[in-house]
Amino acid sequence: MPNKKIIIALAGNPNSGKTTIFNNLTGARQKVGNWGGVTVEKKEGTLKSDDYEINIMDLPGTYSLTAYSIEEIVARNYIIDEKPDIIVNIIDSSNLERNLYLTTQLIDLGVPIVIALNMYDELEAKGIKIDIKTMSRILGIPIIPTIGKHNKGTKELIEGIIKVYEQKEPVSRHTHINYGEEIEREIHKIQKEIHKELSEKYSTRWLSLKLLEKDKEIEKTISDNSNIENILKQTQKSISHIEEIFKEDTETIIADRRYGWISGACRECVSLSQKERIDISAQIDKVLTNRLLGFPIFILFIWLLFQSTFTIGAIPMEWIDIFVGWLSESLTTILPEGLFRDLLVDGVIGGVGGVIIFLPNILILFLGISILEDTGYMARAAFIMDKVMHTLGLHGKAFIPMIMGFGCNVPAIMATRTLESRRDRLLTMLINPLMSCAARLPVYVLFAGAFFPKNAGNVTFSLYVLGAVMSIVVGQILKRTLFKGEAAPFVMELPPYRIPTLKSILIHMWDRASLYLRKMGGVILIASIIIWFLGTFPRISEYNKDYEQLAKNLESNYEITLSNINLTNSDKDSLSEQLSEDLYTLETEKTSEEISKTFIGYMGRGIEPIISPLGFDWRLGIALITGFVAKEIVVGTLGVLYSVSEEAEAEDVTLINALRNQNTGLTPLVAYAFMVFVLLYVPCIATIVAIYRESGSIKWAAFAVFYLLVLAWIMSFIVYQGGMLLGFS
Ligand code: GDP
Ligand code: MG
Repeated sequence: MPNKKIIIALAGNPNSGKTTIFNNLTGARQKVGNWGGVTVEKKEGTLKSDDYEINIMDLPGTYSLTAYSIEEIVARNYIIDEKPDIIVNIIDSSNLERNLYLTTQLIDLGVPIVIALNMYDELEAKGIKIDIKTMSRILGIPIIPTIGKHNKGTKELIEGIIKVYEQKEPVSRHTHINYGEEIEREIHKIQKEIHKELSEKYSTRWLSLKLLEKDKEIEKTISDNSNIENILKQTQKSISHIEEIFKEDTETIIADRRYGWISGACRECVSLSQKERIDISAQIDKVLTNRLLGFPIFILFIWLLFQSTFTIGAIPMEWIDIFVGWLSESLTTILPEGLFRDLLVDGVIGGVGGVIIFLPNILILFLGISILEDTGYMARAAFIMDKVMHTLGLHGKAFIPMIMGFGCNVPAIMATRTLESRRDRLLTMLINPLMSCAARLPVYVLFAGAFFPKNAGNVTFSLYVLGAVMSIVVGQILKRTLFKGEAAPFVMELPPYRIPTLKSILIHMWDRASLYLRKMGGVILIASIIIWFLGTFPRISEYNKDYEQLAKNLESNYEITLSNINLTNSDKDSLSEQLSEDLYTLETEKTSEEISKTFIGYMGRGIEPIISPLGFDWRLGIALITGFVAKEIVVGTLGVLYSVSEEAEAEDVTLINALRNQNTGLTPLVAYAFMVFVLLYVPCIATIVAIYRESGSIKWAAFAVFYLLVLAWIMSFIVYQGGMLLGFS
């Protein structure tokens, strides 16, 4: 006999232990993807038990099923559209009343539910007792205690699921949350207007409630119903009626009723034991969210996070650097000279190696963030930063991605997932590139070192500040234009502190890191190949100068000098040094000419009219174009273009001198305008892709590119032209 299939979905608040239980149930048999169109993570897995095959879907964590966040919409659409056989509602029992709020909404939906009363160990540790039998009876839902962390109760949970599926569970029954006489009457009136065609898909009671709650999403989905006009008319009447009586928003009244119902239910079956333990979380919070100490402690944590990200990360970074260098050298010697070798070494390894090198930093950053999150501290950090972030029109939680942006914008943009409303996510994503990431630093070091040697530190700092100020300005503008409307109501919920397991931290860290690798690796690979191609073709056929002849001249001059005069050994040494230096300069001059005649060279010249009002020439233009792939590349490109050294580095004294002394046309003013442009224009392709993936729309990614370019141009223009007017040069 073939296996019978059961489809279940796990629903629950964030941090209730959903993923832990999902892993307990499915083991390694899982598949990670994204929900269509949005970048909320989708996890599916299967489990075989007796003659059943159980398909399990890990729904996004939500506190509610309103339409305030993508998670909520994804979760509830899945429940409504896919109609899973059973919803397993994971509840953090140490935070019972808060978690039951979601349960009331699942009950309204009228779907079969099994409750996993998770974190049962914490409940017991707090000395709280729940009369599970009574509670099951009140809710009409079987309740199975679990301790996800220790894989306890998993077997019972599976048995419970099968029992409900086979309809052998006596406790299962359809309950109604009672919203009180007035509201119930209005619910009925709306229900009456809802015709058959809708009731096949939706619970009419739930629909009516959502309409009363002014749920725009629902209004949209049913807008093509034949009776929609009457439905909406009745809804309007009912809302006015209820608000007239209670002098309150219907949403508030209905939410209050739900909490009332929950607290009533809890009074029946939850009791504290005699020796109630002192709540450790509250004790910890006295220090960590203290009005005076909270902020400094928070800054200390963030500082530690960054320190470890960059200092500890520097060690494996070096190894990777050495390895990548070794790899390209080996390939250079093994492979025959030619296009293929260039493509592999310069294009692929050069480009991808440049991304892999950040992996240690990213792993450490994510490790730290996973620890902060899993312990429950992140929620407090948001709480502490709430006021500051409000000046940006954002919630406290948005602070984390913004701070991460100073490291790298890509993981920072991925971290916007922790924000609850889509509006906040988008806003945070869009202004995040203004946080000056680590890749921009080499450019500042180079230019500030070359043109502002006495004030390099201050100049660099001014750019960081400019970025932060711009994020406030842009945030304010976006808030008043594209992102008008209310910020999502935000319950600052403080989960209890918890000692996270190593396993869950590592899983969270790896989830993020592998995303970074898979998505960004692919894009960077392609982009590097394209840039390589543009910088290699068309191949030059005629040179301005006969470089070979010039090199020969140099060499023969050297020979002649050597043979003619009586020289000391040290003179000979310095002569030969001089020769190799001259040959090198010649070589790079040749490279520079080659580049100027490739596609990218033409592009640089092509954009010259656009950037010349900023004081930039075609060479700076090329550097900016290559910087699209990654800002780190800008310095290397300049090194080649200004004919200094193939491996120009920020601290490279020769490049600094070359920029300053040669007839480059560069002045301190142009240098500053250039740094401002580098700070503000599109950080890199990976960031754009991250915005595209996280917003689920190419439109927002394009918007980011556009506004950043415009902003960069305007600010550089102001710096350059303003500086000229004021007589700087
Ligand atoms: P999710 O956000 O709902 O997916 O929650 P996770 O599965 O990531 O769990 C959040 C944290 O709670 C992790 O550190 C888990 O190790 C921990 N956790 C999960 N189940 C239990 C439990 O039954 N008891 C305790 N004390 N901790 C748990
Ligand atoms: Mg999870």
